[in-house]
Amino acid sequence: MLSNALIIDDDLEVQLLGKELLSQHGYEVQTAGSLGELVRQPALLNAELILLDFGLGEFTGLDILDYLYDLRIKASILLISSCAQDTAGRAIAAGKALGFHMLGFLPKAKLFTDLASFLEPFKKAPKAPTSNELAKAIHEKQLFLVYQPQIDLQKNQVISAEALVRWQDPQRGVLYPDSFIRLAEQSGLMLPLTWYVIELAMKQQAQWLSQGWDLNISINIPAAFIQAEGVLETFDQLTQVHNAVLSKITLELTETVGVECLGYACYVLKALRQRGCKLSLDDFGTGHSSLKQLYRLPFSELKIDRSFVSQIDRDQEALVITESIIDLGRRLGLTVVAEGIETSAQFTLLAEAGCTVGQGYCIAHPLTAGAFNTWLREYSPSALIAHQMSMFSCSKAC
Ligand code: C2E
Ligand code: MG
Ligand code: MG
Repeated sequence: MLSNALIIDDDLEVQLLGKELLSQHGYEVQTAGSLGELVRQPALLNAELILLDFGLGEFTGLDILDYLYDLRIKASILLISSCAQDTAGRAIAAGKALGFHMLGFLPKAKLFTDLASFLEPFKKAPKAPTSNELAKAIHEKQLFLVYQPQIDLQKNQVISAEALVRWQDPQRGVLYPDSFIRLAEQSGLMLPLTWYVIELAMKQQAQWLSQGWDLNISINIPAAFIQAEGVLETFDQLTQVHNAVLSKITLELTETVGVECLGYACYVLKALRQRGCKLSLDDFGTGHSSLKQLYRLPFSELKIDRSFVSQIDRDQEALVITESIIDLGRRLGLTVVAEGIETSAQFTLLAEAGCTVGQGYCIAHPLTAGAFNTWLREYSPSALIAHQMSMFSCSKAC
């Protein structure tokens, strides 16, 4: 099967040359000349590899990266441009900060001679998983959870952990959600995956309780879950089987909850809250209708998207937006969680702004259940800042 590649460049000659070269390397190639073209034809973005020009008329490569981030596109990106090395360096750093796999910078003049050297290591990377493989993985229990601690930013106490799914693939090693969540959504596997994740999280909760740890656990829930037939009945069955304490479970929803189903979503979510679960609006601030969802749905928590949090120590506007979200959450009586805290400066700014809870690499990476146990035993609030630095270098990143 051919891999898909996309060239985003307003220079037709580069489009043609790139297409020719990539085809020789076995790619099915699409081209786009502007951000508008991408907006009008989202199917173009169905690519594992993107060659991205930096300047595209009105827009820069940074605008394109922001757009890809908002759409949760997870392609590998090679920057091709005639821009200066330091501009390219900034774009690559911005891409990495947004979580993209950046392959590097190739000046356009070297496209013909040097493209192959950028593609070689990328081609050796294992192929993307298929829906059949994912179905088998769920069935054969190859999925597992890692846990990222969440701490009370005012008291420096660990109060919760977010469960994040991983796939231990026998051939490819550990796979991250960005390589299979979209696949699960497209192939109808999101529900079986979610039920499996909920079950694993409930089992983990039982284990923590048996160790005497009074921890909340947050579980990521897709829109498909809310609309699923018999969702409450199945949830009740699992609760009973695992003796789950629902007052210690937070269900995190992203803003992908369809606008057209708000009425029904409200009914299901209220029923879950009546059972004791807390509800969180994840990645707040990145969707189009987040305020409407906040207004209509019975959330108890909102999580500030890390695209804001990661900038608050270097960009005044990101700080003002973040402070305003914290204020909004406080006035609505919600717990406000900041995700993606990477530096102690961000940590301090958030604590000073009155943010309730935080998580991020600066506190701990997501950890396997065993590593989480060890981390929790060693965690010392008074030594947090020193601890942040040592955890950053030694915690088992998953
Ligand atoms: P999310 O729910 O917003 O989870 C936070 C993501 O940010 C996690 O990525 C986490 O590893 C990452 N992260 C945490 N701290 C930092 C930091 O300081 N800096 C940076 N750059 N990143 C940080 P992960 O585990 O790759 O998950 C990505 C997304 O996949 C999640 O975003 C969530 O939307 C989805 N996901 C993860 N697990 C599940 C699951 O079990 N079910 C569903 N439906 N979605 C899941
Ligand atoms: Mg989440
Ligand atoms: Mg999030």
